[in-house]
Amino acid sequence: MLYFSDPSSLAHDPGELMPGHPESPARLVAIERRLAAADWLGWERRPAPAASVAELELVHTPRHVAAIRELSEAGGGAIDSETYDGPDSWRAAAHAAGGAAAMARALLAGEARAGFSAARPPGHHAEPERAMGFCLLDSIAVAAALAVAELGAARVLILDWDVHHGNGTEAIFRERDDVLPISIHQEGIWPGTGSAADVGADGAEGSTINLPVPEGSGRDVFLSLIDRVVAPVAGEFAPDLILISAGFDAHADDPLAGLALRSTDFGEMAVAVRALGAHLGAPVGAVLEGGYAPSALADSVAATLRALGGEGEPGTAPETAVATAAAERVARFWPAVES
Ligand SMILES: [Zn+2]
Repeated sequence: MLYFSDPSSLAHDPGELMPGHPESPARLVAIERRLAAADWLGWERRPAPAASVAELELVHTPRHVAAIRELSEAGGGAIDSETYDGPDSWRAAAHAAGGAAAMARALLAGEARAGFSAARPPGHHAEPERAMGFCLLDSIAVAAALAVAELGAARVLILDWDVHHGNGTEAIFRERDDVLPISIHQEGIWPGTGSAADVGADGAEGSTINLPVPEGSGRDVFLSLIDRVVAPVAGEFAPDLILISAGFDAHADDPLAGLALRSTDFGEMAVAVRALGAHLGAPVGAVLEGGYAPSALADSVAATLRALGGEGEPGTAPETAVATAAAERVARFWPAVES
C-alpha cells in the first residue's frame, strides 16, 4: 500500500488571511502524527510530485490554471470569502494533484492494490474554471482523467463520501461516460448542488449519481448505500480503477456538518470498497478531501488505511429507507441495481 505526501501541503495556510480557517495545516499534522505513531501502518511512503500544467489542463481550463498560479506568485489573496490562494498555495495544490496522479499511475502499473494521497488543499469543489470551497485544483479529477487519457484505464469510478457534494468533480465529468462520479453527501447544506434528480448532462443520464442523505445519517445509511447502489453500479460499470474522494467531515464530531459517522464507520466503508475492488480486479486509491475535527480526522484516516490495507471483513449492510429509495431511482439507469 502506498501513501503519497509532500511538505508543500503544510505551507498552504488559509489562516494567514482568514483567521481560524478550518482547512488548516493542523489537519495534516494530526493525521501524520497518528500514522507515524503506528509506524505508518506498514504503508510505503512516497513523494507526491507536482502535477504538470498539461495534467492539470486535462480537467481545468488553461485560464483557470494560469490564474491560480499567477495569484499565488503575486503574493496570494482571497478568491472568495473562504477560499485562499496564498503565496505557497499554487505549489501545494500542484503537488496535491500530482500526488493523486502519481497514485493512479502506481496503482494502474500494478505496484500496489491500495493507495492514499494525503495532501492539501482539498480539490473536489474546484470546477473546470472556478476555485471554491477551499479547493483550487481538483486533484481526484486530474487522477481520473489521467488514468483514462494516458494510463490505459477504460473506466474510472469515483466514490465521494465527503459530507459536501463533489460539485467540481461532477462538473468536470458530467458529459463523459468513462468517469462515473457517485457522491454521498448531506442534503441541503453547502454548496447546495447534488440533488437526487441531478443524473448527468442531457444524453449522458445516469453518468452522474447523487445520493443525498438527511441530517443525522450515520453508519447504516452509508453502508446500505454502498451495498444497495454503489456496489451493483460498480459491477455493471466495471471500472479499471476505483478512487475515493475521502473527506471525513461526515464524522459526528465535525464542526461543519450534521452527520453521525464514527471513525470506525469509515473503516467499515473502506472495507466494503476494498472488497468491491478485489471482486472487480480494480485497485482502490483514496484522495484526502475535507474533515475539520483534527483528532476525529486522524482516527478516521487511520481506520481507512487499516481497512484498505486488508484489515477487517465486510459485514452485512442493513436495510435503510434512504438506500431503498436511492436504489429505485438509480435502477432506471443501472439495471444491475435491484429496485
Ligand atoms: Zn467537505
